[in-house]
Amino acid sequence: MNIVLLGPPGSGKGTQSKKIAERYNLAHISTGDLLRDAVANNIDVGIDIKAYLDVGKLVPDEVISKLLQIRLSAEDVRNGYILDGYPRTLAQAYLLESFLRLDVVLLLDADYKYILNRITTRSVCSGCKATLSDSQLINNLCPICGSTTFKRSDDNEQTFSKRFQVYEELTTPLIDFYKTKGILKSVDGNGGVEEIFDKIKVILDGVTK
Ligand code: ADP
Repeated sequence: MNIVLLGPPGSGKGTQSKKIAERYNLAHISTGDLLRDAVANNIDVGIDIKAYLDVGKLVPDEVISKLLQIRLSAEDVRNGYILDGYPRTLAQAYLLESFLRLDVVLLLDADYKYILNRITTRSVCSGCKATLSDSQLINNLCPICGSTTFKRSDDNEQTFSKRFQVYEELTTPLIDFYKTKGILKSVDGNGGVEEIFDKIKVILDGVTK
């Protein structure tokens, strides 16, 4: 099964993708994580990726395509995968169509105010990469694996408003694109993690039957 998860920045795509990947035995491919890993590991892709992330601008397609290509050649994608953060533009959606048949596109929708509050009060674990609400941290450490946590450099109000604007302008056209193809399923993302995941399971169990 191949899935795309669409939704505004901070709507919980990463958190839900991890849960979906585990339950349906799929590889979780997050282009945001690929980019942050490239920055952390000083991988030379010819541009300063961090400069794009910090202002909430999309990274050029050539760079994303290169990182995605490398990731897609790994063993674990054989059983299918969930794409989190890709495609983000119609150009990327057309490119994806040329090499992948999608089974379902999940749209995780949430309100601006709700997600602004969520992203300004969250941290990321440096070990297991879980996204955590600050209230869950124990002495600033991850409650799941005990590693140190950090704030994403783009999780501030100014960058968030740019990320949201980019989403509305460039990514929302994908909603109609996939609706027309008959593979779009919407999920209300204004709720708790398990509540949202329950709704996703109902949809995906229907796809796998
Ligand atoms: P969010 O969806 O919460 O914004 P992501 O981790 O998916 O978080 O993305 C963070 C940033 O990575 C984006 O703001 C953008 O700069 C870059 N990025 C991620 N995916 C893509 C993509 N498909 N194309 C271009 N840039 C991307």
